[in-house]
Amino acid sequence: MKTYKIAAIPADGIGPEVIAAGLQALEALARRDGGFRLDVTKFDWGSARYKKTGALMPEDGTEQLKAFDAIFFGAVGAPDVPDHVTLWGLRLPICQGFDQYANVRPTKILPGISSPLAGVKTGDLDWVIVRENSEGEYSGHGGRAHKGLPEEVGTEVSIFTRVGVTRIMRYAFALAQARPRKFLTVVTKSNAQRFGMVMWDEIAAEVATEFPDVKWDKMLVDAMTVRMVRAPRSLDTIVATNLHADILSDLAGALAGSLGVAPTGNIDPERRFPSMFEPIHGSAFDITGKGIANPVATFWTAAQMLEHLGEKDAADRLMRSVENVCASGIMTPDVNGTATTQQVTDAVCEAIRSEN
Ligand code: ATP
Ligand code: MG
Repeated sequence: MKTYKIAAIPADGIGPEVIAAGLQALEALARRDGGFRLDVTKFDWGSARYKKTGALMPEDGTEQLKAFDAIFFGAVGAPDVPDHVTLWGLRLPICQGFDQYANVRPTKILPGISSPLAGVKTGDLDWVIVRENSEGEYSGHGGRAHKGLPEEVGTEVSIFTRVGVTRIMRYAFALAQARPRKFLTVVTKSNAQRFGMVMWDEIAAEVATEFPDVKWDKMLVDAMTVRMVRAPRSLDTIVATNLHADILSDLAGALAGSLGVAPTGNIDPERRFPSMFEPIHGSAFDITGKGIANPVATFWTAAQMLEHLGEKDAADRLMRSVENVCASGIMTPDVNGTATTQQVTDAVCEAIRSEN
């Protein structure tokens, strides 16, 4: 029997609540399937540790994580710790240290959850956004000259490399190929930005020749926002730069109904290092400790993790169970339900056990 070593980092706010829910569902799946075991190690890294010791994780943190098959991450961020401290102190060192260059965000409208788009329902919106996660606009290059003076200049340089663009493009084409519609939309801003963005377009066309069965098209990012709202059925797999996909995936999350249901995977497709799976939402201190955090994003994240580990049947079972529970109306208040985190979790575990 396969045993997967999972590093759980619940971290801050509702992170521990949703990770506990996710682990319960994973346990139910492992017991039900019998084909694999999970060996979970919990790490108490996060803002509380920062307030005690001055660091969110130990100096050899990424070293400690190397031995794991995957990382199951909650949320990081606290009202009394600056955002850049939490971001650069925990999540980014893991993403960068493990070269998790593909950020993968599935989006669909789950049964029982309504989209703000009139007339758009479950099945009408089923996308996966692939975000370049290692370079581009967030490379951290740039600077400020004549700081504070009237002639001050600030630059923010985007760095795109042939290696970086080619590898994310291959990942996106392969993902599109594995989905029923085999359709990819490549997003850039190559009308206004003539260098890196034109290179993206060129590399897309080159990589497309390796995937003759995948249909693809190109969109400028501004027009893309309109298409997402006006013609959601016309899209399937989407690939975009670090900045563009960051923005588009927030829009996608909103169109799908709630932040509380959106998952993401930070993936090293070459599998040199563990990949990290987390709900998109943050620590949400306004609802922390109230027992009403929506665990669905974390369940979906767990399904993404299982699929990455090669347990596709278990991943599919988990998503079917989640969708059945949502359809039956057992949902948390953020999606207009009255159930608690624990009630939703128990219902999902029961669905996992009783499904035939
Ligand atoms: P962070 O600073 O870590 O990003 P945040 O406090 O800004 O955290 P977010 O997670 O970004 O909070 O979400 C914004 C709001 O959406 C939260 O304040 C919360 O009310 C709601 N929300 C987010 N996630 C969930 C969830 N899983 N269940 C229910 N409500 C949620
Ligand atoms: Mg936030």
